[in-house]
Amino acid sequence: MIDVTNLTIKKTSDLLQKREIKALELTQAFLERAKKLNGKLNAFITICEEEALKQAKKVDELIANNQKLGPLAGIPIAFKDLFSTEGIRTTAGSKILANYVPVYNATVVKKLLDSNVICIGKTNLDAWGHGSSGENSDFGPTKNPYDLERVPGGSSSGSGAAVAASQCLAATGTDTGSSVRLPAAFCNLVGLKPTYGLASRSGIVAMASSLDSIGHLTKTVYDNALVLNVTIGKDFFDSTTTENRIADYSKNISRGVKNLKIGLPKEYFAGLDQSIREKTLAAVKTLEKLGATIEDISLPHTKYGVATYYIIQPSEVSSNLARYDAVRFGFGREKFGEEAKRRIILGTFTLSSGYYDAYYLKAMKVRRLIKEDFEKAFSKVDVLISPTSPTLPFKIGEKSDNPLQMYLSDIFLVTHNLAGVPSLNVPCGFIKELPVGMQIVGPHFSEELLYQVGYAYEQETKFYDNRPNI
Ligand code: GLN
Repeated sequence: MIDVTNLTIKKTSDLLQKREIKALELTQAFLERAKKLNGKLNAFITICEEEALKQAKKVDELIANNQKLGPLAGIPIAFKDLFSTEGIRTTAGSKILANYVPVYNATVVKKLLDSNVICIGKTNLDAWGHGSSGENSDFGPTKNPYDLERVPGGSSSGSGAAVAASQCLAATGTDTGSSVRLPAAFCNLVGLKPTYGLASRSGIVAMASSLDSIGHLTKTVYDNALVLNVTIGKDFFDSTTTENRIADYSKNISRGVKNLKIGLPKEYFAGLDQSIREKTLAAVKTLEKLGATIEDISLPHTKYGVATYYIIQPSEVSSNLARYDAVRFGFGREKFGEEAKRRIILGTFTLSSGYYDAYYLKAMKVRRLIKEDFEKAFSKVDVLISPTSPTLPFKIGEKSDNPLQMYLSDIFLVTHNLAGVPSLNVPCGFIKELPVGMQIVGPHFSEELLYQVGYAYEQETKFYDNRPNI
């Protein structure tokens, strides 16, 4: 008997449609695993057993009635607990919303449920998405399935741990400055931060609205493309969304990297663990062997990335969190944690009269320069490759007393949110049995190309086979 929790979405979907497995049995197996491991990992804030079983029975009926279904039908997935789910509580990882039950689904949730996915549960996260490790959750930290003493990366900590530990086959995330890519890197997963505006933010608890990008985590590049296919597109409820130009992101995925120009931005290869630098450069060599050409490149304003991000992001956070006044939602502000308070105070300061020009306005000007760095780079090369994280997954507690140290975990990530460009984390090996990720970055709306590069590399290396022993 095969272990159904160990397959990819593609394989599972084939088995379901060929009627070799049933959605109900599949769902039961994933629910079992989600429940069994939750004590160890704390990946889920809520497990949706009743809803999942109901959805699974419906999928089995549809299949029995010969309905034509898409590749996500019957696939067990999880939603980061920032995504509003009708009738299922949505906490944002904060005690303030501990009892909040939305009356509607986020657009992305709706799109996935319309594709007949099975919702296994709502995943843990740093409260409001503030963090890089998962430790800021009011529901306790999530553990890394590869080493229970270490963080899984954040803020989509539960989404990373749940997919890595095969508690579901995909999970949604949001990436404002790291939150899809860091958990993907720390958990040996593929994670996409799409172009700003590709997926709708409607119904997702807002962190910093000009930076929030809606992505997802999967075990393989192909699976990632299948999820992207159904989660994006113009949405009446989010004016920043655009029409999707590509019908199927998996169609050209095996085109390869022949004659593709890959840029190595030198600023992203400084100030990091030597072993991670070497792993990333080894991955670049593999792509060179597959036919790509490599070029050194410079993005000179990278050094201002973290400082710029930590002006703009708290400014927007201070505005977005002002709505939690206990009148409309949940409990009052006394329940905000340390990190949320720090950001509200920072943001209120940077937006205050007299300081606005010196901080917020200046940061917005630097943001433009960072964006122009990318535009110039992409006039020379097709994609950029760099490490995702400067360190390996760190120990729980290691950085929690030092916010600046924690912010620096995102040093290679926040620039892409500031510029709005897409970035795909792909596993690139292990150091001391801990996963390492690299990111492939391209111009706006180049997701199809990022998948092609990621897929070519993944087929050559197959690191996804190395699942955690848990
Ligand atoms: N780690 C970053 C922060 O704490 C980004 C988090 C995110 O992408 N939601 O702000």
